[in-house]
Amino acid sequence: MGVKEIIKKNKTLFQILRLSYQKYLKAKKLVLIGANKCLPLKKDNCSAETLRCESDIKNKNYAYSLLGKNSPVCCATHLYELLCFVDDTFRKYNEEYLMVYGTFLGAVRHKGLIPWDTDIDLAISEDRVQEVEYMLKKVLDNTTYDLEIDYSKKLMRLFFSKKNRLHIDFYFYRKDENYFYIDGNVLTYKIPLEDIFPLKEYFFYDKSFFAPQTIKMLIMCYGNDVLEKSYKQWSFSDKKEIITEFIPAEIERIKLSF
Ligand SMILES: [Zn+2]
Repeated sequence: MGVKEIIKKNKTLFQILRLSYQKYLKAKKLVLIGANKCLPLKKDNCSAETLRCESDIKNKNYAYSLLGKNSPVCCATHLYELLCFVDDTFRKYNEEYLMVYGTFLGAVRHKGLIPWDTDIDLAISEDRVQEVEYMLKKVLDNTTYDLEIDYSKKLMRLFFSKKNRLHIDFYFYRKDENYFYIDGNVLTYKIPLEDIFPLKEYFFYDKSFFAPQTIKMLIMCYGNDVLEKSYKQWSFSDKKEIITEFIPAEIERIKLSF
């Protein structure tokens, strides 16, 4: 029997094999490496062993956010890696988190990180802080990540590494029968519970993450036109840039070696 005949006879089997191989390749492409495996170091990329670009005077992207530039690919990628790690861990241990502030806005408006955002904002219930701390400490062993928690300031931060201080901020929210409360920089936001729960999943690059049910929080924090316009203003300039087209920060997808 010739090869062609074999293929013809086993057409369905070959199709199944081909499809599963394609699926496997796709899944492989989507998996991001953890920080413990680090980005292949291109010149000027920050890594777990270096300072973050923003604070590294030797890096060409030094003080990028102060100078009004968008996040370099390395920094945005590391932030996304941290977020994927947190999402995986919380799902695995059945804990709840939600995206808030700029990260939630990025999910709704950019379908990813806001290009000029420099951290990730999540919230967890103040009743679960100790459980979350315990859970994260358990899974951090094989990573470069560094967890810091300040109960008095009600803040928990997960850093990319002891040296590279890119991070996720975890705000502690509280709720009563009708409202969800979360501290902002200046004031505490009081949001009706039905605008937060049940949490909804939003696509952020090619994976989905938990965030509030409606965009009420975004309107309260950033105004009614938050989805149409963004006012980008930088520390050392009076220039206010108005942005009306929204794309996510560029990130690098890394292939995982199984
Ligand atoms: Zn960087």
